[in-house]
Amino acid sequence: MKALVYHGPAEIAWEDHPKPVLVDAGDAIVRMLKTTICGTDLHILKGEVPTCTPGRVLGHEGVGVIESVGPGVTTLRPDDHVLISCISSCGKCEYCRRGMFSHCATGGWILGNTIDGTQAEYVRIPHAETSLYPIPAGTDEGAMVMLSDILPTGFECGVLSGKVAPGSSVAIVGGGPIGLAALLTAQLYSPATIIVIDLDEGRLAVARQFGANHTLNSAAGDTAAKVLALTEGRGVDTAIEAAGVPATFLLCQDIVAPGGIVANIGVHGKPVELHLEKLWSQNIAITTRLVDTVSTPMLLKTVVAGTIDPLRLITHRFKFDRMLAAYDTFGRAADTGALKVIIET
Ligand SMILES: [Zn+2]
Ligand SMILES: [Zn+2]
Repeated sequence: MKALVYHGPAEIAWEDHPKPVLVDAGDAIVRMLKTTICGTDLHILKGEVPTCTPGRVLGHEGVGVIESVGPGVTTLRPDDHVLISCISSCGKCEYCRRGMFSHCATGGWILGNTIDGTQAEYVRIPHAETSLYPIPAGTDEGAMVMLSDILPTGFECGVLSGKVAPGSSVAIVGGGPIGLAALLTAQLYSPATIIVIDLDEGRLAVARQFGANHTLNSAAGDTAAKVLALTEGRGVDTAIEAAGVPATFLLCQDIVAPGGIVANIGVHGKPVELHLEKLWSQNIAITTRLVDTVSTPMLLKTVVAGTIDPLRLITHRFKFDRMLAAYDTFGRAADTGALKVIIET
């Protein structure tokens, strides 16, 4: 089969790779129909994810058709169309029993990291029964791909950890796909104000279309003062960090209101400053986490019902044999305007 193989920093190829086979009783082999590229894949390409070693097939998102299942799989069968979760979970270990699938003893984020992933014609999914979700007939499968990672990540790490509530104020610092996923899912809770902050005017325009009440271009400066001006001098109840760089984490500390929460989503590669000398008395909480994807079944229902329309996040489509072009387009998002790219058969 063909697959997108990582060969070390800045080196990837769309090339022949052994087709996966069933290894464990709980496995499924899935023929991929649609996949996508995540910001995390770009972190891997920069050599920032040491667990992902050369020779690995990348990708942790997508939908496909089950080709075969191991003898331990009873709830899924060949020809089922399934959504692949970015998090594999056994459903049995201590962390899984606590709903913390991201730290599953034999799962977590392993796809396209420590085992071969979804940017391929076929993928082996361990713990298939608890890591795949059947797709309701008639559902747009491109929309489903947004449920593999970005919608549950924006929702769980941003909206739920940030305790977005009716009438509350929210700032989303970083208007990329994850920030926009937080924007779409925050609206499930009817906050009074959502402010999206980014450096890219194109992304801010999309944020306004997606329901942001205010957008601020941080390139113009004085961003914290502008957020305070929009919130009667208080700051926001929830500051969602969706960029993963020191400057945006700092900004979140400057704009969080007393009693508020800084909910970190960003993948940080460098230390950040923490201004406890200002925050210690402000009843602030700071949250960090990986996505557990426990909200996937609920979010799937909101997509099927039309409450959330994740198709709006898809800006580009490619066929599988143009995977490298898809990487190029996604990697130059500032020039191409790419949010999520779909790669499909
Ligand atoms: Zn991802
Ligand atoms: Zn587990």
